[in-house]
Amino acid sequence: MERFDVNTCKKVKEWLRKEVKKIVIIPHVNPDGDAIGSALGLNSVLNNAGFESEVIVPNDFPVYLSWLSSEGIPLIYEHSSKRCNNLIDTADALFFLDFNDVKRLGKLEEYLNSNTKPVVLIDHHPDPAIKAEYLFSDTDVSSTSELVFDFVDAMGMMEHLDVTGANALLSGIIADTGSLSHNASRPDMYRIVGELIKRGADKERINESLYNNFSEKRMRLLGYCLSEKMEIYPQYRTALIWLSAEELKRFDFHPGDTEGFVNYPLSIKGIVFSAFFMEKHDYVKISFRSKGSFATNDFSGVHFSGGGHRNASGGESKLSMEEALALFKVLLPQYSEQLEKDF
Ligand code: 5GP
Ligand code: MN
Repeated sequence: MERFDVNTCKKVKEWLRKEVKKIVIIPHVNPDGDAIGSALGLNSVLNNAGFESEVIVPNDFPVYLSWLSSEGIPLIYEHSSKRCNNLIDTADALFFLDFNDVKRLGKLEEYLNSNTKPVVLIDHHPDPAIKAEYLFSDTDVSSTSELVFDFVDAMGMMEHLDVTGANALLSGIIADTGSLSHNASRPDMYRIVGELIKRGADKERINESLYNNFSEKRMRLLGYCLSEKMEIYPQYRTALIWLSAEELKRFDFHPGDTEGFVNYPLSIKGIVFSAFFMEKHDYVKISFRSKGSFATNDFSGVHFSGGGHRNASGGESKLSMEEALALFKVLLPQYSEQLEKDF
């Protein structure tokens, strides 16, 4: 495990053995497959290893990921904050997974601002800006789930990785790589995928649950986005889709329904930048994707209080939808050179 410094691992192992019994694992807000997969995977291993571990998810997550938990649906902070606060108060350690900034904790941020518990951060986003006792960060890996596998290995806990944990971690890897199609060039990742399958992870079921498990309304919403709502700006090699709260309601939106919509325009020849704006209760949630060198995380960080990876990032705006879209469109000409760079 060269990427996990031997001395640090030894220290963490000792600390876990001697001082830690109760653990709370927290992934990022609006959790996706990797956030849920890494959290539930680690949770399963830690419980099997004799810890009392619980996952607290900041807000609702896609129902199609709930089969990954053998102990029922994890606690959702927005629905049971008192119970979650209690768990945090009595925990010996907090594990933060798949985010690099406390802003990604959603409503949990405020409560955790005064946190004094030791934090272990396991993440694959650039420039982690979280105060953590122990930091396991690597931007080269496909996913936090892959990093959790290495962490489990480094902690000598592989015997506790059973089929539940393996399914969760493989789901995270598959979700963050689009079924091993992007961020998936490291041979080591395939070794880990192999190890997970050896432990019983069901690749077919994972693919079914992630990609072939939607409602009819969600399929129609996708069709509506692509035929009615997609705007193409060929001069900037950019595509834009946006949905109002009313449109989301009309198509009976559930968390996770719009996952992946932002990727579709990138399959149009010549389009390298895709943005998806969605109207939430009191803000606009934005997803960015790109192909090649265009750094969407920089764009998102500078203009939309966001971040993420170069080719996949997100952000938000407190402006109205109309104003946020206008801002986005006015910014494009400033980036035309960068958007043309790969051509
Ligand atoms: P998505 O567009 O699927 O919500 O997120 C894509 C990537 O961007 C993920 O890696 C996610 O962690 C990151 N991301 C999404 N929204 C935000 C945000 O508001 N702030 C930051 N810093 N990262 C985000
Ligand atoms: Mn991730």
